[in-house]
Amino acid sequence: MSKALRVAIVGGGVIGSSIAYALKTMGGDDVEVIVMERDETYAQASSSLSGSGIRVQFSNPVNIAISRYGVEFLRQAGDLLAVDGERAELGFKERGYLYLAGNEAQAERLLANNAVQRGLGLDVVLLDPAEIASRFPWINVTDLTKAAFGLAAGEGWFDGPGLQQAFRRKARSLGATYVAGEVAGFKREDRTVRALVLADGNEVACDWVVNAAGAWARKLAGEVGVDLPVYARRRDIFVLSCPHALPGCPLVVDSSGFWMRPEGDRFLAGISPDAADDADDLPLTVQHAAFEERLWPLLAARMPAFEELRVQGAWAGYYEINAFDHNAIVGLHPSLGNMVFANGFSGHGMQQPPAVGRAVAETILHCGYRTLDLSPLGFDRVVRGEPLTEANII
Ligand SMILES: Cc1cc2nc3c(=O)[nH]c(=O)nc-3n(C[C@H](O)[C@H](O)[C@H](O)COP(=O)(O)OP(=O)(O)OC[C@H]3O[C@@H](n4cnc5c(N)ncnc54)[C@H](O)[C@@H]3O)c2cc1C
Repeated sequence: MSKALRVAIVGGGVIGSSIAYALKTMGGDDVEVIVMERDETYAQASSSLSGSGIRVQFSNPVNIAISRYGVEFLRQAGDLLAVDGERAELGFKERGYLYLAGNEAQAERLLANNAVQRGLGLDVVLLDPAEIASRFPWINVTDLTKAAFGLAAGEGWFDGPGLQQAFRRKARSLGATYVAGEVAGFKREDRTVRALVLADGNEVACDWVVNAAGAWARKLAGEVGVDLPVYARRRDIFVLSCPHALPGCPLVVDSSGFWMRPEGDRFLAGISPDAADDADDLPLTVQHAAFEERLWPLLAARMPAFEELRVQGAWAGYYEINAFDHNAIVGLHPSLGNMVFANGFSGHGMQQPPAVGRAVAETILHCGYRTLDLSPLGFDRVVRGEPLTEANII
């Protein structure tokens, strides 16, 4: 009997766990999967602190294809990730993303993106201000020029931490092993990583390594001499109540940059800080003053009902920002033959795990992509200095 291929995954968040799931689903007993996770409470993991939206309204076909697959996967996740007959309940709400344009340049971008999306067969509709007002009478349209709405395309939101746990539970049921411990470095011979070196000095031998360490991936990459341009940038989410209903409320991405969506009888909202306030590795403390001074006025200007909102809670988590081009980096680095990177999701990593997990498993088990071609997200673009363009980053 031939020896099973031993894959060590660093990080058991939604990305690492989706890769473990895909490896065991595709490779069965031919692959041994070890997931190293230093904090099994996942208290600071981005997967626990996510907004958990999924959208097809990207401008780049590779991101669109990844999300389309993600939508299909989420629709079937209850069965695909069931363990011992217990379905995974992820509460997927397909209520669409509504992108609002506030000037001609933004409207032109929506039109250009829409041409790509419709060219790929996606039912994303463009709305004029009068149509926005008639469909969503609670939106102030006075300064709006256009909107794009992806209701029929499967966009929406779901239980992101639930997806991470469901991948983990399913991967374990298929034979993947989760080990509590921190990876401090690697034992390497030329182009090959031979073992993980743990913080306690122990080693874990492996045939393949996957860096799925989220916002902490850069330091690990540095241990093998790889410059991974991924940085931890704090983002807040505020939980809001409002005495007025907003019928048919989708996930709204405002022309000013904030996003907002319903969550049960409440709402979640957030906005990226200005560049000057967006340093790396800031502590995960919520910026309440920024809510009062910046986000609330923007919310109330767009949705006058929100003048009466109440903040019911808030949390902060890290976006793992790929500062090179704000897209995921998935695949091998040219200097290493057996270390796969799955990092830098830049705010859209909760919707990409089904496709990324499968792609990394194909890289390891088949030495290349068999289904979706994710080579546009490869590390070589970073090495070559050729950014992948994506116009729709939140
Ligand atoms: C506020 C916020 C809102 C978001 N909204 C959305 C959204 O609406 N839609 C969307 O698609 N995405 C969204 N995201 C992004 C998405 O949540 C992340 O891209 C995704 O969760 C990343 O998953 P991950 O597994 O790579 O990282 P993580 O979940 O952070 O997992 C990485 C794991 O690696 C472990 N680890 C790190 N270093 C080591 C080590 N040396 N040894 C052992 N273990 C290690 C960590 O403990 C951690 O558990 C949001 C993120 C945030 C913070």
